[in-house]
Amino acid sequence: MMTGNFPTDAFQRLETPFYYYDIDLLRKTLETIKAETDRYGFEEHYAVKANANPQILKTIASYGFGADCVSGGEIEAALEAGFPADKIVYAGVGKSDKEILLGLKNQIACFNVESEAELLIIEELAARQNCKARIALRVNPNVDAHTHAKITTGLQENKFGINMEQLEEVLAIAKRCSHLEWTGLHFHIGSQITDMTVFQSLVIRVMEIQDALEAKGITVPNLNFGGGLGIDYQHPNHLPIADFEGYFKVFGTLVNRRAGQGIHFELGRAVVAPCGSLISRVLYVKEGVVKRFAILDAGMTDLVRPAMYDSYHRIENLNGVETEACYDVVGPICESSDVFGKDRMLPTTKRGDLIALRSAGAYGEVMASQYNRRPLAPSYFSDQL
Ligand SMILES: *Cc1c(COP(=O)(O)O)cnc(C)c1O
Repeated sequence: MMTGNFPTDAFQRLETPFYYYDIDLLRKTLETIKAETDRYGFEEHYAVKANANPQILKTIASYGFGADCVSGGEIEAALEAGFPADKIVYAGVGKSDKEILLGLKNQIACFNVESEAELLIIEELAARQNCKARIALRVNPNVDAHTHAKITTGLQENKFGINMEQLEEVLAIAKRCSHLEWTGLHFHIGSQITDMTVFQSLVIRVMEIQDALEAKGITVPNLNFGGGLGIDYQHPNHLPIADFEGYFKVFGTLVNRRAGQGIHFELGRAVVAPCGSLISRVLYVKEGVVKRFAILDAGMTDLVRPAMYDSYHRIENLNGVETEACYDVVGPICESSDVFGKDRMLPTTKRGDLIALRSAGAYGEVMASQYNRRPLAPSYFSDQL
């Protein structure tokens, strides 16, 4: 079995489970994104919710990217990691007053507003602070992301964003608010999108919206296309860097960019997923009647994606010998959904073997919980082991 490039000797000395981040791969990925965004003059705001580990944030901030936040806590984490406030954008359907005030106090680049009700509260709070809030309207463009139902956000009946039919009305209200400065339109249609035609559909829809507004004399200063680019969870060793070239090319060729218009992105998963792995040890191999279980010391509390979204993560035995057998790979949590993979072919696996759950750098560590009163798994970095 081909495995990733891991410092297995160093791992042997460490208590499991833990997250391991390949910083070389993260840097190569960031260099690729930098080159592709510079080519077109685009701006990336890394989606902090994918991974808010301070070391990871600091590394990403050092490349000059902005941050996309969905809570006050994320704004604080982004500022602490060195993202400049004027490159921080803030989305979310339920921004609390306290969170809005935090954004105002720090003069963040933009609030991505998801409803008329929220718009009026930001106006009120900005008036009270005697300042101006920069806002963009998040529009629900009704584009099907062809992705998992739990991570699609761009369809008509959805808690996210303002429906297209209501856009002009909400925009008119925004323009009448004296403490708001309207900076443009924001979109984010879903996550783990690997079909580039979905992004083509998004651009075409956004161009229609832009044309309709221009026909009424409204120019759009900034367009933010959100995130959503997927990665290849099946083949992390062959394709460790997502197709940023193909992704940005869609926007570079199809966006009819107006003079001086800013074009923004908020990629999260594709930036950090490949560089992270959850490293675990086999506690027991349990021989059932028809099944064989490999029971790990890592569980859904450390990596919830398989239990929550039926997500696939490649599972590698780092000590394995070549003869293969079939295993259900499970965790120790008292929930039957605590399964990392069913019917996986692995080298003959025994107690104490190190197991890597690959492509766990996004929506992994950030979603960890302490259910069953388990400690949070620590993280280690390739340049520090
Ligand atoms: C989650 C999210 C992103 C990032 O999505 P990825 O699929 O991780 O790229 C970007 N923008 C907004 C508003 C989000 O909620």
